[in-house]
Amino acid sequence: MSFAFVSDHLALDFAATVAWRTTRRRELLAEPEDFARWAAEAGVVDRLEAVSHAELAEARALREAVYRLALAAAEGEPYDFADVARVRRAAAHPPVRLTLHAVGRVERRGGVQEVLATLGASASDLLGGPDHLLIRHCSGEPCTRLFLDRSQAGTRRWCSKRSCGSRVNAAAYRRRTREDERS
Ligand SMILES: [Zn+2]
Repeated sequence: MSFAFVSDHLALDFAATVAWRTTRRRELLAEPEDFARWAAEAGVVDRLEAVSHAELAEARALREAVYRLALAAAEGEPYDFADVARVRRAAAHPPVRLTLHAVGRVERRGGVQEVLATLGASASDLLGGPDHLLIRHCSGEPCTRLFLDRSQAGTRRWCSKRSCGSRVNAAAYRRRTREDERS
């Protein structure tokens, strides 16, 4: 399964590496290589080598903390301070190192600890700053992705219009058509 980067924020794309959390939960970071691939595809680091199972477990634990905090922010619910502490611990390490080689070419180097630090910093920036007010839950059930609503009117409903928006509209269309046939 390929990763999606549709939430408009790195930390929320990270949280979305579990799909369909409330129904057919699907873990997208099933193996250490999955995390290495995600980190490169997300543009956090150029290459991540030799991720251990323990490091994968650490990455997942950070991801779950980010997800719970972001969900609490989206729904205006209380949260567990242990999750704040976990994000803070991750962000306490030095992040991925960026070296600018030329205009249009930057090198991103680091190991798992640096990648988690970058993700922790990204989550801290999101959850601690004003953008936490823009976190929304996708309306396209059973999708459980969170996203940032940067639309001017504040009316974005779906993580992705192409996938969830069109699926919801198609379902509504089928429902209407069935009702029309019955009447
Ligand atoms: Zn969605």
